[in-house]
Amino acid sequence: MSTFRTPRRRARLALAVAVAATAAFTGPVSQAAPAPSPRADVPSPGAAGLGDPVFPLDGNGGYEVSRYTLDFDWQAPSTPFEASTTIRATATQALSRFDLDFAGNALHTVTVNGTTAAAVREGDELVITPRTPLPRGKAFTVKITYTADPTGIRHRDDAIEDYGWIPTPDGTVLYPQPDGAKMIFPSNDHPSRRAPVTFHVTTPAGLTAVANGRLTDRAELPGGRVKWTYDSEQPVATQLVQLAIGRFTSVESTGPHGLPIRDVVPDDLVAPTAPYRALTAEHLAWLEDRLGPYPFDRYGLLVGDTDLGVALETQTLSLVPKADLLGDRVSAERNQVHELAHQWTGDSVGISTWSDLWLSEGHARFYERLYSEEHGGAGFEEAMRTAYASHDQWRHDYGAPAEPTEPNLFKRMRYDGSALVLYALREKVGDATFRKIERAWVSTYRGRSARTRDYVDLASKTAGQDLGGFLHPWLYGAKTPAMPNHPDWTVDPVQG
Ligand SMILES: [Zn+2]
Repeated sequence: MSTFRTPRRRARLALAVAVAATAAFTGPVSQAAPAPSPRADVPSPGAAGLGDPVFPLDGNGGYEVSRYTLDFDWQAPSTPFEASTTIRATATQALSRFDLDFAGNALHTVTVNGTTAAAVREGDELVITPRTPLPRGKAFTVKITYTADPTGIRHRDDAIEDYGWIPTPDGTVLYPQPDGAKMIFPSNDHPSRRAPVTFHVTTPAGLTAVANGRLTDRAELPGGRVKWTYDSEQPVATQLVQLAIGRFTSVESTGPHGLPIRDVVPDDLVAPTAPYRALTAEHLAWLEDRLGPYPFDRYGLLVGDTDLGVALETQTLSLVPKADLLGDRVSAERNQVHELAHQWTGDSVGISTWSDLWLSEGHARFYERLYSEEHGGAGFEEAMRTAYASHDQWRHDYGAPAEPTEPNLFKRMRYDGSALVLYALREKVGDATFRKIERAWVSTYRGRSARTRDYVDLASKTAGQDLGGFLHPWLYGAKTPAMPNHPDWTVDPVQG
């Protein structure tokens, strides 16, 4: 369904036509070194979006980012501050101009390869025209300076409501999902695209900055401010970037095989959240038993001193609102295992379009419920039977699991409604084969983004049977199919 690879496909087509034409007039042409099409080297604008079915203008065409470097001169939770973003990228076509995704904030200057470039804001697009066109295949550097506005937020019609910058009493945490990263820094803001991030953040004395990955430097500046430098280590999708500032204590421990665990906790919440935070090593071991090795170099919980309604699987450092760790143990563990499972499915195995979100959320909910059933929570089968009863209603209200019909994606169909598809698959192929499919999924697509079709194909290959005919109606159909092995399960009639 997605058209987000159209520009590249078109370039390849042009190349094929050129080769064919040359062959017709001059005889055989070496296959090893076909002459590039002249047209592909004529500068043209990069696409304003990747054609995502839900957010068509998110992401951009004509280049791939190889690193973001963010410089934030952070001041206070609601105080605007000076910021810059430096993007190293490679042109995938000859570019007369290109877009970044950028919203809110006050833009100051844009340079390309050190030279001032023309820049125009159109909605969430920042359209940049370099003084000279960028050749295809060449690396280039864009630097954007701006005054960041940490009060800038976006709204979503669900449990989280506001996202982007999230203020806390003494700092800030980030909730970029799904399209809030562009509120924080100019970027290629789409989950199919990821790049390593270097963070340079200065804070007032007494505060701590943390981000995805590893602290590489901490320097005290004249006047008492402190400069923190983090490296994300692995490439990260913009929706999974975390950068938090506050009065934090860093609590370090180790998980299975010596995996470094670093929780980042507001000072006064260290003791009250300790009992549930201490369970992370156990959660890691349980998930590794199911899904194989944890895919990153470290993990930890960032305890948010906010009344956020939901947690977020920011890569290597999941944001968990404090209430999640201060209530009952069953609920706490469900949230913790959910965000941790996302590190395998959603973070390491990314999604190619927002319509593939069921692959991320469905898996996280599946393992969350499976774990919970084994640790004092509700029965998995009963929860799936309940989801099954509502499934036609959810199809009607929110679209089929792999075909969301509204930009407010994070509805029940993407959670229990999508875990139900995995449950149906397990009923169909049996637990042993299902476990093989899941292991193959997280190892085959580790560090890459994948589509719904990739999952169906890999499941079929692993099971040794074509599962397309079984899964397609579950994922795309207007009606929920019969549940294998449960002829007594019924779907409620659709209301409205
Ligand atoms: Zn989730």
